Amino acid sequence: MALKIGIVGLPNVGKSTIFNALTKTRSANVENYPFCTIDPNIGVVQVPDTRLDNLSKIYNPVKTVHTVIEFVDIAGLVKGASVGEGLGNKFLSHIRECDAVCQVIRMFVNSNIVHVEGRIDPRSDLQTINTELILADLQSIEKRIQKVSKMAKSNDKELKHQLDILLSVKRGLEAGELGADTGGYNFFLLTQKPFMYISNLSETDIPKFDIIKQKASLGLNEDDILIPVSATLDAELIGFSDEEREEYLQEIGITNSGLDNVITAAYKKLGLITFFTAGPKEVRAWTVRKGATAPEAAGVIHTDFQKGFICAETIKYKELIEAGNEVRARENGCLRREGKDYIVADGDIFHFRFNI
Ligand code: GDP
Repeated sequence: MALKIGIVGLPNVGKSTIFNALTKTRSANVENYPFCTIDPNIGVVQVPDTRLDNLSKIYNPVKTVHTVIEFVDIAGLVKGASVGEGLGNKFLSHIRECDAVCQVIRMFVNSNIVHVEGRIDPRSDLQTINTELILADLQSIEKRIQKVSKMAKSNDKELKHQLDILLSVKRGLEAGELGADTGGYNFFLLTQKPFMYISNLSETDIPKFDIIKQKASLGLNEDDILIPVSATLDAELIGFSDEEREEYLQEIGITNSGLDNVITAAYKKLGLITFFTAGPKEVRAWTVRKGATAPEAAGVIHTDFQKGFICAETIKYKELIEAGNEVRARENGCLRREGKDYIVADGDIFHFRFNI
């Protein structure tokens, strides 16, 4: 399963423009990803990785396959969504299915494009969206509180404890905190998902963007992820080759388009790492969560690989590149044999041994 990032934000902030630019510029050939969802609102996007390109140069395979994440264009959030305004509940259920939430905040000014609240106020927009999600979470927490308090009448200590936790989460939400900030308990709330933010700017404002200042003015924490993007600029770049894009961006004084940053930031925010498989037929990048074991990584490729796992032969990416090819890396003693408790490191190149 590819991980899903939901793109949310008020109407007319540039969500669809960003979604289109992401999915057209970095779209993956879905034939390689039979597990991905086919839906017009879901884009399967390649995770850029120069290591994969370098491995391809070494192995010269028939096929090079990136790892992917899915972006979901979630329409319909307006003030009152938590009580059914706009697409209301439908909107919220789409977010529930996502692994992370990426909020687009409008910072571009254009009087021809109506702002739903009639003014550009990024901080207030951000709060409007988060408030709707918090209100939806409050409903879920209240339902749980009702259920648990009925059961807790029997003086069960465990249930009383759970009730206390629920009540403290409720207080946090009522004070405007995200679920993620209300303590270490996971109640699968919308606001307990990883959040990240995109500020959609005019292209002329991109070089001037001061990330620390902007986070402060939006009321975000220092470690929150905020990525400057110019949706219209990225829309213009659809169809450009990588080289053309780079050249064009250099000309207008921008180091990169922001879209790649969105993809890699999402990948990081979700705590994901990449491992590779490499051979003459295919060089391929795969995704696992940080902390996954070798058999779990094998299971990403095929459940049978995990069931019949014997061992993983691994070479570190860096050592392979230094050796120049796999034969020399083996001669240098860079190939290690790892068992079922081995924790995957980012950049491992694996050959799995299994028996089925
Ligand atoms: P959504 O409702 O959030 O999905 O917003 P859209 O992506 O449909 O964009 C709404 C309108 O704003 C469209 O006409 C876009 O072309 C325009 N727009 C989006 N991003 C920008 C931007 O960065 N600058 C300017 N000037 N217009 C933009």
